[in-house]
Amino acid sequence: MTQTETSTIAAPLQAEHFDVLIVGAGISGVGGAYHLARQCPATSFVVLEAKESFGGTWITHRYPGIRSDSDLHTFGYRFKPWTSAPIATAAEILKYMGDVIEENDLGRHIRYGHRIVAASWSSERNLWTIEARRADTGETVWFTAGFLWMCQGYYRHDAGYTPDWPGTAEFKGRIVHPQSWPDDIDYKGKTVIVIGSGATAATLVPAIAGECAHVTMLQRSPTYFFTGRNINELAEMLRALQIDETWIHEIVRRKILHDQALFTARCVNEPDAVTQELLGAVRAYLGADYDVATHFTPSYRPWRQRLAFIPDGDLFRGIASGKASVVTDEIERFTPHGIRLKSGRELPADIIVTATGFNLSVLGDIDFTIDGKPLVFSDTVTYRGMMFTGVPNMVWVFGYFRASWTLRADLVADFVCRLLRHMEAKKAKSVEVALRPEDADMPLLDWIDPENFNPGYLMRGIHLLPRRGNKPEWQHTQDYWAEKDAFPAIDLDDAAFVYR
Ligand SMILES: Cc1cc2nc3c(=O)[nH]c(=O)nc-3n(C[C@H](O)[C@H](O)[C@H](O)COP(=O)(O)OP(=O)(O)OC[C@H]3O[C@@H](n4cnc5c(N)ncnc54)[C@H](O)[C@@H]3O)c2cc1C
Repeated sequence: MTQTETSTIAAPLQAEHFDVLIVGAGISGVGGAYHLARQCPATSFVVLEAKESFGGTWITHRYPGIRSDSDLHTFGYRFKPWTSAPIATAAEILKYMGDVIEENDLGRHIRYGHRIVAASWSSERNLWTIEARRADTGETVWFTAGFLWMCQGYYRHDAGYTPDWPGTAEFKGRIVHPQSWPDDIDYKGKTVIVIGSGATAATLVPAIAGECAHVTMLQRSPTYFFTGRNINELAEMLRALQIDETWIHEIVRRKILHDQALFTARCVNEPDAVTQELLGAVRAYLGADYDVATHFTPSYRPWRQRLAFIPDGDLFRGIASGKASVVTDEIERFTPHGIRLKSGRELPADIIVTATGFNLSVLGDIDFTIDGKPLVFSDTVTYRGMMFTGVPNMVWVFGYFRASWTLRADLVADFVCRLLRHMEAKKAKSVEVALRPEDADMPLLDWIDPENFNPGYLMRGIHLLPRRGNKPEWQHTQDYWAEKDAFPAIDLDDAAFVYR
């Protein structure tokens, strides 16, 4: 139940109080709400979401073909079976999330159209005061909360990243970013260039190839893809045996995770063999004469960037049919009728789609202060990629890159619920993490090792992110297989946790 508090941020204002405030109703925030309601039923909470509905990533992205690039058995929650094909459309993911909200009566906890703009912590009151703007009225509303559960994702939802190419103003056609796909765009019979080589470009190109005059995927450098049928044979077999869906979900998740662990180990131990397998699958679609070396052979080792799955080889089938093609070159400038490349070649276009990635958003672009001082997030050190030194009563859900994001959202949720119960048992009002005496000489490094993982949006924004140490407890290890056992075993009375 909520109660009314008087805020001290400005003039006395009416603020609604909750024990926990969850930021964002994407897959992480809705999962957090589910776990909190189940594991801490006496805890009052609210989810504030800037958008008009739930889904986060899956409502922001509305480009043709939008789908997951990992399987929904593991991208789905551990508590709700996924019963369809592994790679899912955004619409299917939204339906799944909607079912979770409805079946668990979570809707009453979510306030849509509430963008949080500021959050301030008071050590005197052991409270966060939250300032939010309502989308419908423009009104400012205030909340207080004992604990902040940051489920705001990692990128800015209102605008994607577009490099500043010369000549864009001269281009007479239309330039669109997939993150802001316009309703009125008509690509039928048009010549389209999609700039980029990541999962978005690889999804968009086959989705529009059938209707365009021609679509070119223009990439500066190639990406690894893997391909296969969009079906999970084990799930189908278990279904044929009339096994309960709850069991199928658990068994299939374990099998997928087992296979992924083996595959990741192979990428590290025998990268050349893995590379040849991946490229062999591409050649099987494109034929021996296709220049796989130029267009589909990256210079990095497999898995250093997210490896996207191409269901049923649709991208390669589009290329093989001649409706789509790949050009690997650099952009010199936009011209009135297309793009001039550094090689001197000109590509004509009616529409140019810039599938060039995201703008990193650290902590949801919220102005944070702690006892009146601005929080400089990059001055903090992360505890397991979820808590931050000197920041009380706050956890951030930052999922995995190599395994499904939601695996970590579930693990972090268990941790938060355990921590909240522990605080209650100790009668502690606040908890923050602090380096221990044995961590005093620990080297402090960037959030992630670029040798290990280096997508553009992270590299562009790495200076904004907290620091990591060289011990597992002081970094986001990106290792689900270690964290699934380590997280439940975290000693909440370790000296890294400071309670007041
Ligand atoms: C096109 C695309 C496909 C992807 N496919 C996969 C995949 O297959 N597998 C995988 O593991 N990962 C995938 N990812 C990564 C994906 O973003 C995450 O897996 C996951 O959806 C993130 O969920 P989230 O809830 O943490 O964040 P988001 O989906 O980003 O949701 C965050 C929510 O918080 C809200 N919010 C942010 N700031 C504020 C604020 N200040 N006030 C109020 N609300 C706020 C936003 O409006 C948004 O609704 C994909 C990403 C993209 C862009």
